[in-house]
Amino acid sequence: MAKCPTCGKPVEWKDNPWRPFCSERCKLIDFDKWTSEEYRVPGRQINPSEMPAPHSQSDVENEDEES
Ligand SMILES: [Zn+2]
Repeated sequence: MAKCPTCGKPVEWKDNPWRPFCSERCKLIDFDKWTSEEYRVPGRQINPSEMPAPHSQSDVENEDEES
């Protein structure tokens, strides 16, 4: 059985959208690792099509409802 490159846990290969990783989290961790370590480019360009959709965009649009 394959192992997750990030955490080393056995990876369920069948019906696993995140392979070779065990989960979306591990995939994102690894993605961030190689973009920051091997592609040290000013501005750090990431192709949006290679990134999974973020769970939320609350960091971008922070509506001020407390005032
Ligand atoms: Zn993992």
